[in-house]
Amino acid sequence: MTKQKSWKGQFEMAYRIDPEECIACAACEEECPNEAISEGDDVYVIEASKCTECIGWFEESQCALVCPVDACVPDPDHEETQDQLVEKFKQLHPDKEPKLF
Ligand code: SF4
Ligand code: SF4
Repeated sequence: MTKQKSWKGQFEMAYRIDPEECIACAACEEECPNEAISEGDDVYVIEASKCTECIGWFEESQCALVCPVDACVPDPDHEETQDQLVEKFKQLHPDKEPKLF
């Protein structure tokens, strides 16, 4: 899976879980720093309003790193700029400073 590099001015996207690929192993849930991942009816799901593509925390999306079947993928329906994702981080974590890479 290719990922757009952060902090280069391109558009980023929230992530989604491909329901055709997810095997509901739960590995991603505890790795999400924003608690954006939860168990759905059959597979796990990402709440886009909480997903910053890990911006503010990590250089790479943690869910995609741990998923054994590459089910965590960028969601083109939730395209956001890096600035918007940093703002989302600040709204989710008003007491924290985002880490920039
Ligand atoms: S990309 Fe990061 S913030 Fe978004 S769901 Fe995955 S682990 Fe959570
Ligand atoms: S790590 Fe991958 S397979 Fe496991 S629950 Fe998350 S999306 Fe599904």
